[in-house]
Amino acid sequence: MRQIYEHKIFRRSKEFKDKKILLDCGMFQGKDEDLNLEEFEINPSEIDFLFLSHSHIDHSGRVPLLVKRGFKGIIYSTKPAYELCQIMLVDSAHIQETEAEWKNKKAKRTGRALVEPMYTQQDAMDSFKYFKPVLYEQLVDVNENITICFKDAGHILGSAIIEMWFKDDDNTMKLVFSGDLGMDKEPLLKDPSIIDKADYLIMEATYGNRIHQNVEQRTEELIEIILQTIKRGGNVIIPSFAVGRTQQLIYELNKYYDKKCKINGSENLLSKIQVYVDSPLATKATEIFKQNVNVFDEEAKEFLFNGDHPLQFENLHFTQSAEESKELNISREPKVIISASGMCEAGRIKHHLKHNLWRKESSIVFVGYQAEGTLGRKIVEGEKIVKVLGEEIRVAAEIHNLEGFSGHADKLALLKWLKGFKEKPKKVFVVHGEAQSKADFAAEITKELGINAIVPVYDHLYNIKTYKENEEKTDGVVSQVEEIALDITPNKMSDNLLSDTEKLKNIFNEAIISAEKYLNKESLNLEDYKKIKNRILELEQDILSLTSISINNK
Ligand SMILES: [Zn+2]
Repeated sequence: MRQIYEHKIFRRSKEFKDKKILLDCGMFQGKDEDLNLEEFEINPSEIDFLFLSHSHIDHSGRVPLLVKRGFKGIIYSTKPAYELCQIMLVDSAHIQETEAEWKNKKAKRTGRALVEPMYTQQDAMDSFKYFKPVLYEQLVDVNENITICFKDAGHILGSAIIEMWFKDDDNTMKLVFSGDLGMDKEPLLKDPSIIDKADYLIMEATYGNRIHQNVEQRTEELIEIILQTIKRGGNVIIPSFAVGRTQQLIYELNKYYDKKCKINGSENLLSKIQVYVDSPLATKATEIFKQNVNVFDEEAKEFLFNGDHPLQFENLHFTQSAEESKELNISREPKVIISASGMCEAGRIKHHLKHNLWRKESSIVFVGYQAEGTLGRKIVEGEKIVKVLGEEIRVAAEIHNLEGFSGHADKLALLKWLKGFKEKPKKVFVVHGEAQSKADFAAEITKELGINAIVPVYDHLYNIKTYKENEEKTDGVVSQVEEIALDITPNKMSDNLLSDTEKLKNIFNEAIISAEKYLNKESLNLEDYKKIKNRILELEQDILSLTSISINNK
């Protein structure tokens, strides 16, 4: 995710006091992977704060790269998100290192230039010292002008909606970043917090144009698939995100294995079926979940009070070594294997796919979002032959896609959350999701709630500063020009931009002096007054935006 909000405090003395804040610092997955190594839009050493919504790699994955490239600020996140980042970023680094090693082996043979991993495990560990974990609902004064508060987003352990208040003299502007929002009644997690108000909202739309089917029956469906597959003598392979989804699956399976839920006498059959979590990362993550039961929802706490840990049951096993993992494919005993990565791009899941995709008696069950361009997406979309670990494999296994397990709120849940605002935001910036999903959801917001919603254009600068101090004088007209998008991308800027901006500023200053004189004349009618004032403000905002672009390009 590449959202940058720059907080500028404009002093009357024409002095700027900039604080640069980054919201999330994720890794591109699938078809946009190449973008990961591009320069950050802002020099990392100039970024003061990173507010991190949650630990998923598409939100936190480039934090070590940010630090490697000079970030020295503070990273705010919830405590569980910080703890999960500690294992996830090291794991991500390990994947980067392995991939670079593999590419270099090939490069040496073909004489091509060697590559470096995006970041190493040491880089990941170096980034942890910049974290400042906070509690849910804690009001944190970042400095004298900026206050933040993390509220539960119900998407993954430690996930947060971030409320931010920016004070500028007597005015305050409240910006809210939704992060990723969960569905209501997600296993283990509380429902997404309702937010009272925001001046501006940055909101995700992963499922902005989809409605999840079978949310109620999803676990029954899964149990049914497990029973049928085992009867055929096949394995059930579940590619799952190591962190979050895996623990939710364990939690749901625990209910059936502990005979609290039954379907067609399933408890007798299930007692013979072993479940393996084959992902070192998922195993570590499960431990972190167990250490953070205080943020679990009521139902999960109830299990604990009754002496049944909701994240363990007799038939559940966590494999550790690579040997144990290999053993799973050697033994002929039908079983359930939950393995990562969730989109089948890396990790042990690839071995399990290699051994099971071609077996018509096995089942592959997807329980999460599959990004465009990933192996998981190809399988879900019905490709008949796929490449796994360099080998072409025929797809003969049953493919299931249980959308009901999605950790992301669907269109209806997103709208419901938005309707919870007592005071509507002035504008919603729709981010995070495929292009069509974002566009459809922005249109839906405007249609359903009458709120101005846009999909921000990549590389455009949006100035959302409000000028409340002028509002009385101008009858509230100013609010019409609070956002101006500049149709200029930094890389197209001329070298002379800084001096041009300087000239423009001088012209502007002269113009404003003569305009002020004119504006004070009582003969001026209100309409003309508003027009001129608006034009001045537009110019002022253009200059602010231009100045920040040229400073960033220096
Ligand atoms: Zn997420």
